[in-house]
Amino acid sequence: MADIGEMVQTGAVAVTDDGSPVHDAGMMRRALEYAGMFGITVISHAEDMSLSGKGVMNEGYESTRLGMHGIPPFSEEVCISRDIILCKYIGTPLHIAHVSTKGSVELIRQAKAAGVNVTAEATPHHFTLTDVEIGKEFSTNLKMNPPLRTQEDVDAIIEGLKDGTIDAIASDHAPHAPEEKEVEFDQAPNGIIGLETSLGLVATYLVKPGHLTWNEVARKMSAAPAKILRAPGGDLRAGAIADITIVNPKAAWTVKVDKFYSKSRNSPYDGWKLQGKVKYTILGGEVSFEG
Ligand SMILES: [Zn+2]
Repeated sequence: MADIGEMVQTGAVAVTDDGSPVHDAGMMRRALEYAGMFGITVISHAEDMSLSGKGVMNEGYESTRLGMHGIPPFSEEVCISRDIILCKYIGTPLHIAHVSTKGSVELIRQAKAAGVNVTAEATPHHFTLTDVEIGKEFSTNLKMNPPLRTQEDVDAIIEGLKDGTIDAIASDHAPHAPEEKEVEFDQAPNGIIGLETSLGLVATYLVKPGHLTWNEVARKMSAAPAKILRAPGGDLRAGAIADITIVNPKAAWTVKVDKFYSKSRNSPYDGWKLQGKVKYTILGGEVSFEG
C-alpha cells in the first residue's frame, strides 16, 4: 500500500487502484480504513482480473462472433459488490470509477438506497458506444477498460445518470501515441482521450434528447466531482475559486482529431457531428482557453 498519510500531507485528495486493481479484499479493507483516518475518498477501478483473464472486449454475442477473448460484466460487478460491502462496514467514502454495466448501476442504486457512502461516475464512451462497433473496423480506439458493453448497458447508465445513481461524468482521458495504438486489437493498450469531446458528447447525447438538464450537467461534470474529491470548485458563489467553463449549447461542430489541442489522436469520435461546445475556460480567475 502507498504511504497514504504522507500523500495526503503533500496534497493528495483521494487514492485509487486505477490501472492495477486490488484483488485482495484484506488489502482493500486496510486501504479504506487508512483513507478513512485521513478523510479522503477511495476511488475503485472495480475489476476482478481472475474473471477478466485475457479479455480485450465485452464478453457476449459480439466477442463470440469475432472470436475474441471477453471481459464479462460480472468481472466489474463482483468487485463493486465487494467494495460496497466493505464500505458499508468501514464507512470511508467509496467512489466507483467508470461504471460500465447494467448490473453495476443496479448494485450502486441498491447500496445508495441502503445508505452506503458510495458515489459513482460514468464516461461518455460508455453511454455513446457499444461493442457492436468493434467488429466494423477493429479500430483500437474502441479498446478501453472497462470495455464498451451492449445497448442494454448504455440504456442503464443513462437511466442511472437520470435518477442520480451515477453522480458524475468523467472523461477517463487516456492519451496514447499513434504507434502504440497502431497494432492489432489484441496488442493495443487500453484507453482513449476524452477531454475535448466530453462536453459535446454530453450535450448531444444527454441534454439534446432530454435525459439531463444543463443544471444537472453542471452538477455532474463540476460540482459533484469537486464534492467527491473534497476539492474547491463547482461553485459560482461570491468568494468561490473562479475555475469556470462557459459553454455555447447551440454551437454545432464536427470532431476532427487532427484539430485537437491534445498531442494524442486516439479518439473513436473522428467525424462525429456534435452540438454544444466550450467557449471559454477560466482557471483561477484568468481565461486559459478560448474556443
Ligand atoms: Zn480504470
